[in-house]
Amino acid sequence: MIKLVMGDLAEKRVKSGVQLIDGRDFLDQIVTDGVVSLVNQKGAFLGTAYLSRQNKGIGWVLSREAIEVTEDYLIHLFKKAKQKRRQFEMSDLTTAYRLFNQDGDNLGGLTIDRYGDYALFSWYNSYIYRQKELIISAFQKVFPELKGAYGKVRFKSDLPESSYLYGEEALNPFEILENGVRYSVFLNDGLMTGIFLDQHEVRGSLVDGLALGKTVLNMFSYTAAFSVAAAMGGAIETTSVDLAKRSRELSQAHFKANGLGLENHQFVVMDVFDYFKYARRHALKFDVIVIDPPSFARNKKQTFSVLKDYHKLIAQALDILSPRGIIVASTNASNMTTQQFKKQIQKGLGKIKYQFIDLKQLPGDFTVNKNDESSNYLKVFTIKVNQ
Ligand code: SAH
Repeated sequence: MIKLVMGDLAEKRVKSGVQLIDGRDFLDQIVTDGVVSLVNQKGAFLGTAYLSRQNKGIGWVLSREAIEVTEDYLIHLFKKAKQKRRQFEMSDLTTAYRLFNQDGDNLGGLTIDRYGDYALFSWYNSYIYRQKELIISAFQKVFPELKGAYGKVRFKSDLPESSYLYGEEALNPFEILENGVRYSVFLNDGLMTGIFLDQHEVRGSLVDGLALGKTVLNMFSYTAAFSVAAAMGGAIETTSVDLAKRSRELSQAHFKANGLGLENHQFVVMDVFDYFKYARRHALKFDVIVIDPPSFARNKKQTFSVLKDYHKLIAQALDILSPRGIIVASTNASNMTTQQFKKQIQKGLGKIKYQFIDLKQLPGDFTVNKNDESSNYLKVFTIKVNQ
């Protein structure tokens, strides 16, 4: 096996339990794509890793011990991952959740989600993708109850983004349950599925009282999952705003799945900044405003980055928020800490009175590596505004 020498800082990181490997971690030039042995500058063994370029980092530590990635090894990882999600497995109210989460389950570069009776694999680099037969075989031994599976390629390649992997084919679309609410999902159409599972708990809070009797504005709504959760939680009106034309049809599918009429629910295909202007002009007010932008966005007029521009969204939301209204401010930007995000929000809130009443991060099925805060990307603040 190839031995790679790590620099002092990288050695410290590996010893502290960080699994993600950075391009600057090695003294030698890296050309390999596969399993390697890590050593320090004195030649002492540090761990087993694999190298493979992906969106973030160039590889992952597999273990601090000398191991081989065999079917038995993967079975062991999948059994441990399954054990951690017992509570989800037992639930009748939630049928979609993450079964395996990268370094949180000791194998970076791979996630597996459960959507009802189906599994959805995401391959984040070519090494993981090349192990797919072995991974699937081990997975089927630990999860024989699942009927079929699909896969998503999340690294640069000529492969199709989405493909069928094994078993029965899923209906397209079909319904899953979360906190007792139905969502319409599709497993084999690009990289998206119609729902972001990492927001379980935020949707849960909307179902469980936050939206009761309220008017709700959902900005960057995608398939309006937050709006459906709010409607099922007793919201009297919802308005969902997204630039993508397809969002309207996908949003309505979630509402129909729950037998909700559409009279009090609006779907607006518009740039959120234009909608803020429109709402101000028409003196619209909302009791709850949910804001969940992509980390970066570009339209014809401007670029938007969560890191620099989130405060503008908050400031504009204040103009159309009812007295004592609530803002739910979400971001999945991994290049920003919770404190930095809070500062952006405070900058937007300015001098008015407010209280931060809740912070939600990744839910329990999205296990994170406790030794590496950078994998804990989701931050969702609930703020009560006293204006
Ligand atoms: N809140 C959603 C996920 C949002 S994903 C959920 O919980 O499911 C980000 C969405 O922002 C995408 O659907 C994209 O079409 C939309 N978007 C990006 N830039 C936008 C803009 N300037 N105005 C409105 N929508 C935008």
